[in-house]
This record gives sequence, structure tokens and C-alpha cells, in this order.
Amino acid sequence: GEMDLVDINECVRGAVNILSNQTKYHAQVHVDYGELPKVKGYFGKLNQVFTNMIANANQAVDENGDIHISTTYNNGYIEIRFQDNGHGISKEHLNLLFTPFFTTKPVGEGTGLGLSLSHGFIEEHNGRIKVESEIGEGTTFTIFLPPADD
Ligand code: ADP
Ligand code: MG
Repeated sequence: GEMDLVDINECVRGAVNILSNQTKYHAQVHVDYGELPKVKGYFGKLNQVFTNMIANANQAVDENGDIHISTTYNNGYIEIRFQDNGHGISKEHLNLLFTPFFTTKPVGEGTGLGLSLSHGFIEEHNGRIKVESEIGEGTTFTIFLPPADD
């Protein structure tokens, strides 16, 4: 398909808006939008990745849920960070996250496809995803994307 010059901040804002309009949404979301170069790629795919990251964070937190999102440009890479104070991910599960159909959610609530699709979409953009998690403390996903060359 056609590639776009994607404004990552607009794409993140879209994902935040989609989710905050849902009644099952309870976390507080804070976003720090940095100044970023554009990314050459697919707005729709990146929007799906960001939506899944925020939905996962929202499903991991309790009624005191906080989700901190930031976009920054560091060392030649755009970084999009999703930090939650949810239940965290065990060491065993960390290795399985990106495997298709891996889910810890009840039947009907999770397909286990979000992170495997996200991983593929980010690779298509020559980027990568880093996960850091501590049981009972929370989880941070950081996505790194190269800027479009100008
Ligand atoms: P699904 O959301 O359908 O379960 P995903 O591929 O999006 O599938 O996520 C796979 C699994 O990774 C989840 O079921 C959950 O166990 C874990 N996970 C993903 N994000 C988080 C998070 N922010 N906090 C805790 N666990 C998470
Ligand atoms: Mg998911």
C-alpha cells in the first residue's frame, strides 16, 4: 500500500482519543508530546500499535491506574513510551509476549494477537520494541522508530 509521512504525535493522539471514548476505560492518561521528525510508513498500522499498547496498559491497571505516554527524539530515533502502574509481567511471560495467540486474558477478552501484530508492524517500519516490567509495579513498552530521511 501507499506509505505516508506520519506525524507520530497525531497518531498517538488518535489512539488516546479512540480509547478514552470507551466506557470500559478507567485509567488516567498523561501524554507528553515531544518535537519529532516524521516517520515514513503507515498511519493506520502505527495507530493500531499505539491503540493496542494503551488498551493493554488499561487492562493491566486497577482503579488507581495511571498511564504515562511520551514521545521524544533521541540519538536519531523517535521513542514512544507507554508506562503503566499495572500488575506487571512475569519473567516467564516476557519471552512469550510477541508470540501469536499468547494471552493471559479470559476467553473473549484477549486474542493474544495485539503484540504479535504490533511487532510485525514495527519491524516493517525498521523499528523495535523494548519491554521492561516488574511484578506489582508496572510495565513500560518503548517503541523506537527511525525518522524519514529528508
Ligand atoms: P491480548 O491483549 O489480546 O491478551 P496482546 O498480544 O496485546 O494480546 O498481549 C499479550 C499478553 O501480554 C497479554 O495477555 C498480557 O498478559 C501481556 N501484556 C501486554 N501488555 C501488558 C501490560 N501493559 N501489562 C501487563 N501485561 C501485559
Ligand atoms: Mg492486547
